[in-house]
Amino acid sequence: MINEICDCSSGPLELNGSIYCGLGFGCNNDCILCVANISEKRENMSTSQMVAYFDRLIDNKNLTIQISGGEPTIRGDFLYLMEYLSVNAPQITKVLLSNGRRFSNTDFTAKVAAYPPVCVLVPLHSYRPALHDMITRRQGSFNETVLGIRNMLEYKIIVIPKIIVNKLNYQLVPDFVEFVAQTFPECKAVGVDTMDLLGSAGANKETLKIKHTESAPYIQKAIDVAQKYGLHISVIYMPFCLVEEKYRKFISADQFIVMYKDPRDEREKGSLTKERGTVEACGKCKYVGECPGTWYSYFREFGYDELKPIYD
Ligand code: SF4
Repeated sequence: MINEICDCSSGPLELNGSIYCGLGFGCNNDCILCVANISEKRENMSTSQMVAYFDRLIDNKNLTIQISGGEPTIRGDFLYLMEYLSVNAPQITKVLLSNGRRFSNTDFTAKVAAYPPVCVLVPLHSYRPALHDMITRRQGSFNETVLGIRNMLEYKIIVIPKIIVNKLNYQLVPDFVEFVAQTFPECKAVGVDTMDLLGSAGANKETLKIKHTESAPYIQKAIDVAQKYGLHISVIYMPFCLVEEKYRKFISADQFIVMYKDPRDEREKGSLTKERGTVEACGKCKYVGECPGTWYSYFREFGYDELKPIYD
């Protein structure tokens, strides 16, 4: 992935790969596990700044834009920006990361469907409404998100529900996959994210943090459930050495972006920091280079003792 910033200040950007674009810092949820810190009051880039940024990308032939936030759909100009990008750069692939709540409105869903993203990644923190709402800190958010997913599917928008594994839900991950398979049979894929302990997630880490060695057996069971239903499943940032060999092919890096960066902060710093991956403790493990490792925020919390480099 290219960690390009939403920089509207200069000429064309020639890029290949995937860029992350945060449309705004606000959200209609306030998730305790959000890697952003939406309670910080920050000013969004304006419509004209976003358009200027998109204009810099328009000539790219092989580019995916991951549109996120905060919650991108709550911007008043969200539909305009999606249309602008689709009309002016139809060859650019748009992936939307959204909590799905605005799609509970069918009129809004229909308008997005006119210029649809290639898929929408929707976090669902549990199949249990009370637990989901406890994590989002918004009563009724589960029902809106589920209705939003249903509406998107009605309008033929591809949806990938995903769960962010933490201490409150790790034992429920297999049943979450079962829930997705049974409730949304039109969904072809489901995501399982390990958690980056930054932002609100870092502030709430005592409630949320779970060792990978404890969650891995449940993630493996979730993969079994997905396979039972023929559902594609992708687990991100789980070290290969913590799962049985047959499950490693379901683990990847960066397929579903959970990283949050304020582009302007990064511009001020002048360079991007690598915040996840394998580490020195991996030594000469044969999977270095292939294995995604995990979040550095995780290593800072739990150290490296769980890693079991593989040499054969
Ligand atoms: S030791 Fe490191 S490279 Fe090897 S499987 Fe574990 S995390 Fe991946």
